[in-house]
Amino acid sequence: MSQSLLLLEVTCPNCRSLLTRGQHVPLGIHCVETGEDGEIRLSALFGDYAVETDLVIAEGATAEFWCPFCEQSLMVDTACKLCEAPLASLNLQGGGSIEFCSRRGCRGHALGGFGDLDEMIELLNRMFKIPHD
Ligand SMILES: [Zn+2]
Ligand SMILES: [Zn+2]
Repeated sequence: MSQSLLLLEVTCPNCRSLLTRGQHVPLGIHCVETGEDGEIRLSALFGDYAVETDLVIAEGATAEFWCPFCEQSLMVDTACKLCEAPLASLNLQGGGSIEFCSRRGCRGHALGGFGDLDEMIELLNRMFKIPHD
């Protein structure tokens, strides 16, 4: 494993539990189309869009995410800049938050899915503890 991999330590905005497990972020998922609940594992690696889930979610379908500890919804009242589906939000242990799209197949889907370059640079600075001048 390369040391340059960026591992995101994310926490629940409601109960503050650390959600990152190894290189994954396991979350609860509710498929809006089928009404089924299941589990999803997002990659905790910055910029890695891989997801694993036991639910069948059609490409383009949307899902709701919830915290496996407190079972509160992680959905926020903001729409994805790319596809306008609702976003889910997680807190970062170093401060701030990270949002991702709830639509399967959208580039905003996984944790690294930023639409905003400034936001990404700010996050990188924080992760490498680069002081602001
Ligand atoms: Zn929680
Ligand atoms: Zn989207």
